[in-house]
Amino acid sequence: MAKKKSKREHVWLECKQCHQRNYRTSVSVAEGTPKIELKKFCKKERKHTVHKIRRK
Ligand SMILES: [Zn+2]
Repeated sequence: MAKKKSKREHVWLECKQCHQRNYRTSVSVAEGTPKIELKKFCKKERKHTVHKIRRK
């Protein structure tokens, strides 16, 4: 931990349909837990689905 300037946390983007964790990203957690939902390509289902942020 060098600098604590920006509070960023590594999260997973989890498919809402099959709960497959397809992407890893980092989000700002300065204003509490972000509730971001993104349309992403699910490798398992091979189609675009809504992905939810999942904190570790
Ligand atoms: Zn899926």
